Amino acid sequence: MVTRKSIEEVLSAAKIEEVVGDYVNLRRRGVNLIGLCPFHDEKTPSFTVSPAKNIYKCFGCSKGGDPVGFVMEHESFNYIEAIRYLAQRYNITLEETQLTDKEKELRTVVDSLYIINTIGKDHFSKNLWERQEGKNIGLAYFKERGFRDFIINKFELGYALDERDDFTEHAHKKQLNTELCKSLGLISSSGHDFFKARVMFPIHGISGKILGFGGRTLSSDKKIPKYINSPESEIYNKRNVLYGLYFAKEAIRKHDECILVEGYTDVISLHQGEIQHVVAASGTSLTTEQIKLIKRYTSNIKIIFDGDAAGVKASLRGLDMVLEADMNVKLVLLPDNDDPDSFLSKMGTEKFTAFLKENEEDFVFFKTRVLLEDSGKDPIKKAGALKNIVESISKISDAIKRSLYIRQCSIMLDMDESLLVRETNKYIKEAIRKKNMDGTGRPAFEGQDEGDWITEKKAPRQDDYVPLTTDEVQERAVAQILVRFGHEWFDEANQIHMANHIIEEMEDVIPFLEDVVCQQIFSLTQDIIEKNETFHHQVFIGHEDEFVRKFAVDALSYPYEYANWEKKGMLLQTQKMPDENYLRESQNAILRLKLKKANRSIAAIEKELMTMHPENHDADEYMLQIKVLQALKKERNEMAAYLGTVIL
Ligand SMILES: [Zn+2]
Repeated sequence: MVTRKSIEEVLSAAKIEEVVGDYVNLRRRGVNLIGLCPFHDEKTPSFTVSPAKNIYKCFGCSKGGDPVGFVMEHESFNYIEAIRYLAQRYNITLEETQLTDKEKELRTVVDSLYIINTIGKDHFSKNLWERQEGKNIGLAYFKERGFRDFIINKFELGYALDERDDFTEHAHKKQLNTELCKSLGLISSSGHDFFKARVMFPIHGISGKILGFGGRTLSSDKKIPKYINSPESEIYNKRNVLYGLYFAKEAIRKHDECILVEGYTDVISLHQGEIQHVVAASGTSLTTEQIKLIKRYTSNIKIIFDGDAAGVKASLRGLDMVLEADMNVKLVLLPDNDDPDSFLSKMGTEKFTAFLKENEEDFVFFKTRVLLEDSGKDPIKKAGALKNIVESISKISDAIKRSLYIRQCSIMLDMDESLLVRETNKYIKEAIRKKNMDGTGRPAFEGQDEGDWITEKKAPRQDDYVPLTTDEVQERAVAQILVRFGHEWFDEANQIHMANHIIEEMEDVIPFLEDVVCQQIFSLTQDIIEKNETFHHQVFIGHEDEFVRKFAVDALSYPYEYANWEKKGMLLQTQKMPDENYLRESQNAILRLKLKKANRSIAAIEKELMTMHPENHDADEYMLQIKVLQALKKERNEMAAYLGTVIL
């Protein structure tokens, strides 16, 4: 564990313009810097960096945050990984809380495993480029496939010699721990080389470390397996790894799409052909963990199939889980006898890309078409196909998307839409029942309950979007002012900051706020004030809750200011800049909120009074309520007068 003190040291050292500047070409505009957004494709910059606030904000895709948030977003790091990255960037040595002996041991083992794999990779690479056998066989094979030197180096390809102890002897010389080498599968259990006479494909983790290897034999002997992979180890879990992701992640984000192919060589050839947003699920069929990995970067996945129709059909069922993950899945079928590698070298990049575009087909429609063709006129087969298709559709968690698919498929199947709706709901019900029974929350059905079903014959629900209530809007207005101006003086003579003022004014309503995020913002500020600490918006933009972070960044990058940055302030000139006017703004926002609450209390008391009988024993209580009511009305009217609101 990294200590709190170290984290704070990193937070205060990290400058947003420097951290972003490592990735984005920034140029100055006014007090801010602008550049092309690394998170979405754009030609004119809407990505803005504010050194004064130490945040970035994109007005195109609305991403924003502090330096830690930027690194998390850009590198798909978790919080601690981002802190470690920034610590390295700023030469800060992180203080760690005492590790237990077991943790220390595990950490040393894991570190050693990575070191051994790196030594292995270097050794195989040396074999490929310097040893006669490597050059004659391994390098010759890669060249024959059309791999150029730069791509061989980029993917760190290598060669394992056809010798009993080539790597094993190297490992001894380097004094590597034999047991660890065995656990990585570099040395076999009998103590000799595991990979022999094979071209070697190192498998990189997300941050580029070598997790394991895939080795391909060049022998035509059918008894020898074509590919062997490193066994699972402390650092290599096949389910969690996508071959090529380390090299592809940037491009995947840029294209907002991930292409999935089958083999190592497909990934490498496509890369060489400048199609870089491509990965392979090596050694497994696609797993939920791999889908989650892809989802860090994009929700769009395009799967390139080669091979015969039977093979394709077999893999269709496995794809339902991609739908469950709420991803858009497209399929492309290559012509018979071609794999992506061979097809690309035949067609060239431009035609290849065009082919993908013209031939991509939505997964659900693809499946419907294939199953329909398959069942022909056989009614039993057709019923089976229908079940199969609605089962896939039932996995889609978005109700609107689901009904669109149902409509389209009912046309394709020439069946009544309401029948498909009923069948789909059966599967959803069944899945919910199972989920409730075994308690393992499957991701597709999070937040899905009875109310989420599609009602028969009804158009897609339009009310999935929940607008904010007026209360929430008003609460947000106050919270925004708090985040933006909490550090400014409310009353300099008496040393009262805006944060203190706002909290004092809001104290009695904070527990009743409707907006959860606002409530968090106010409570956090209350804590700061109670502890007598200085208010700073860093508390929010560095907060662990993503919604708090987003709220703060949005509040700090007001559209008003954007107009300023753009030097297009004309439109807004009639409005007062909140920067100059925050005292009045905050007063108004707080009053509007309180007015609302007062009106509600008044209505509640009036209702209560109707049920009371003043002549009875609750006469005292009645009078008390009348007094409260009068006081509330007076206060309400004062607030209304100040705001210029007319109370009827
Ligand atoms: Zn953007």
